[in-house]
Amino acid sequence: MGKILAITNQKGGVGKTTSCVNLAASLAATRRKVLLIDLDPQGNATMGCGVDKHDLELSVYDVLVHRTPAQDVIVAAEEAGIAVLPSNGDLTAAEVELLEQVDSESSLRQALASIRDEYDFILVDCPPSLNMLTVNALVAADGVIIPMQCEYYALEGLAALMETVSGIAATKNPGLQIEGLLRTMYDPRNSLTVEVSRQLIGHFGNKVYRTVIPRNVRLAEAPSHGLPVMKYDKHSRGAVAYLALAGELIRRQEAGKVRKTPEPETA
Ligand code: ADP
Ligand code: MG
Repeated sequence: MGKILAITNQKGGVGKTTSCVNLAASLAATRRKVLLIDLDPQGNATMGCGVDKHDLELSVYDVLVHRTPAQDVIVAAEEAGIAVLPSNGDLTAAEVELLEQVDSESSLRQALASIRDEYDFILVDCPPSLNMLTVNALVAADGVIIPMQCEYYALEGLAALMETVSGIAATKNPGLQIEGLLRTMYDPRNSLTVEVSRQLIGHFGNKVYRTVIPRNVRLAEAPSHGLPVMKYDKHSRGAVAYLALAGELIRRQEAGKVRKTPEPETA
């Protein structure tokens, strides 16, 4: 069954969308079947995968609000090698319209129930707020990936996010876990970065991915070509870092499976 990962941080500009698109493409490069769900009305992940948000007949809005089957809305992002459930400005209305529905928090979860078997990974790019769309992602997800910039205020918002995650785990989605914290736009020459990074590891231990994503201009350029960075400049430090992250994610998942296998009984 496909693993559903919500890429969340209510702070804007921390690298959620960049991580979602490039991790998705990197997982696909390891022959995993990947679906990217764009849950941000800005549609940046959609555009970043080479899907024009202005040309959509249907979008994730229809899936969430009108309960249109996801398979009727999913499109192929061929260069990225992934499937995309796209979004655009229509999604702005979803928050209010969802509130009028029963089960408003479980709409995405229900939509994915019948298709998650078709994928190895489903990555959800969340909007920069803890709103109803983010709640839908957290209710649907198995794990949360939190991209963050190691700067002075980075740890501040983290408490609110952790509370939201544990609130949803306690009520709607007992299986929900923090999958990992990802240090983005990392600059080891900056002493504040190094200090915040140290605090983060002190607090969250091995939940912090060993892979760090460096600041790399290729990562910022690639979306305007509708390409993940590995298709734009495969030798760039950004491309190498996201491939490494995909490797770390897969290794952790395999290790988790081994640990879960019951000990063989001894006679
Ligand atoms: P979010 O989705 O959290 O708002 P984005 O992924 O859109 O954040 O990133 C914000 C901006 O920073 C974008 O312009 C993006 O291209 C740029 N960016 C993200 N990660 C990096 C990086 N590692 N190096 C350089 N620029 C980056
Ligand atoms: Mg974004």
